[in-house]
Amino acid sequence: MTLAMLGHRLITDRLVIATHNPGKLVEMREMLVPYGIDAVSAAKLGLPEPEETGASFAENARIKAVAAAKTSGLAAFADDSGLVVEALGGAPGIYSARWAGPEKDFAAAMQKVETALQERKAETPEQRRAQFVSALCVAWPDGHLEEFEGRVSGTLVWPPRGTRGFGYDPMFQPDGFERTFGEMSNEEKNLLPPRGRGLSHRARAFLKLAEACLARP
Ligand code: IMP
Repeated sequence: MTLAMLGHRLITDRLVIATHNPGKLVEMREMLVPYGIDAVSAAKLGLPEPEETGASFAENARIKAVAAAKTSGLAAFADDSGLVVEALGGAPGIYSARWAGPEKDFAAAMQKVETALQERKAETPEQRRAQFVSALCVAWPDGHLEEFEGRVSGTLVWPPRGTRGFGYDPMFQPDGFERTFGEMSNEEKNLLPPRGRGLSHRARAFLKLAEACLARP
């Protein structure tokens, strides 16, 4: 039995991707391509960016998806994600984007993580464990919601390595790999089975969403 048979709603119409983050937009749009979904970004529709006042990734994803669905009249797809560092009690967590400041300076944000780890004498790979978490929400204008979460575990390296990806990618080395996300192509990070391994937190959450709410054309 598929999840779609268990009361989930299929995404059939045009979809708004409720993000103003260009890195995420690229990844989310690429994930939707095989399903033939016509996706337009919130930024392109001129939708306002709601304040992320939630206390969890799931709540913030819901806030973004619900706001975009209400203002656009279309189903809306949002991700809230971030880096959860064990030695820092889960920080930066839902504040991952804010650690980069208004300039969105992720070199500075990564330095902030590294300084906090050094202050706690977190030097070994075991002391430098972290997870990327992605909460995905699809909201419809009639109030229906579909919500999924994905995680990927790894180790934080220093100095950062690689120029690909975005955000904290260059300091995150996923378990089972010698390279950071910053050294991987988008395909290697996000491509779903059968062509890829669905490695990233967002890919893992998306796989659940696809199983429940998307039909291959
Ligand atoms: P928000 O979900 O828009 O609040 O932002 C999440 C922040 O977490 C992003 O701006 C990135 O800094 C970070 N982040 C989320 N996903 C990834 C990823 O796949 N790679 C690197 N950083 C990420």
